[in-house]
Amino acid sequence: MTADYKSIINHIYEEVGHMPLKGAVADYIPALAEVDPSQYGIAIATTSGESYGVGDCFTKFSIQSISKVFTLAMVVRHLGHTLWESVGREPSGSPFNSLVQLEYEHGIPRNPLINAGALVVTDRLMNLYRQPKEEILNFIRDMSGCDDIYFDHRVARSELSHGARNIALASFMKSFGNIDNEVDGLIDVYCHQCSVAMSCMELAKSFLFLANRGVNPVSGERILSISRSKRLGAIMLTCGFYDESGDFAFRVGLPGKSGVGGGIVAIIPGEAAIAVWSPALNSYGNSIRGIETLERFTTLLGISIF
Ligand code: GLU
Repeated sequence: MTADYKSIINHIYEEVGHMPLKGAVADYIPALAEVDPSQYGIAIATTSGESYGVGDCFTKFSIQSISKVFTLAMVVRHLGHTLWESVGREPSGSPFNSLVQLEYEHGIPRNPLINAGALVVTDRLMNLYRQPKEEILNFIRDMSGCDDIYFDHRVARSELSHGARNIALASFMKSFGNIDNEVDGLIDVYCHQCSVAMSCMELAKSFLFLANRGVNPVSGERILSISRSKRLGAIMLTCGFYDESGDFAFRVGLPGKSGVGGGIVAIIPGEAAIAVWSPALNSYGNSIRGIETLERFTTLLGISIF
């Protein structure tokens, strides 16, 4: 492990861990409201095979919207450019579950990392695979090199029983002809992908293929072409934090993705992936300590993609 990473992560963990805890856990999915907000972990994995973590870095949590990057990679891998006829790649400037733009834009979501766009991606994934849920788990297990990755069925059930907003998004897009599958089945797959439980260490490792220009550095397998890997990184940078994406790029300067479970993962192209988990969120649905941690990380190391 590059010595700097380890000591800087320890240093940030101590400093940020002692700051007063601000924000609140997501409560619109009841199972997430029960999570202890004081948990905090950081893990980094490098493309050369080293890894290091601190705090609750081995505790599994609900990855929620971070799963959107996995499903996007799976679909882009097979569909390539045709996906972009059904979903855009511009920042939305809107909350993650907003309905408003969809009407003006004829059911074509702004990007694949807001809920509407992720629902289109999952819909296409269901067209590609007979057993989409199993394939999602298999993909994440392969990318992380860890077999012990499952759906948290309690979280999935909790979201399914409070899924009115996502059902509305999917139904609305179906009315424009932009959803192929039945809405109930789509929401079931979507809530399961969001319920995947992973630790920071597993998450950091699972994003290394994006830090390594599309090649899984452990197996050597090419997952995405260099060009498609670049495009996913670009979408993470511009859209990975909903209507806080510009501020994340400004403060951190790395492509990343957040989830309302309090996780954030970011990539340092050519080098590493870093994951942070702290469940207390700001009003945009992004982890407060997570962003603070990553801002300090890139500032202290003097690294960013710029
Ligand atoms: N499952 C969540 C939802 O669809 C994901 C949102 C997020 O993590 O930002 O509402």
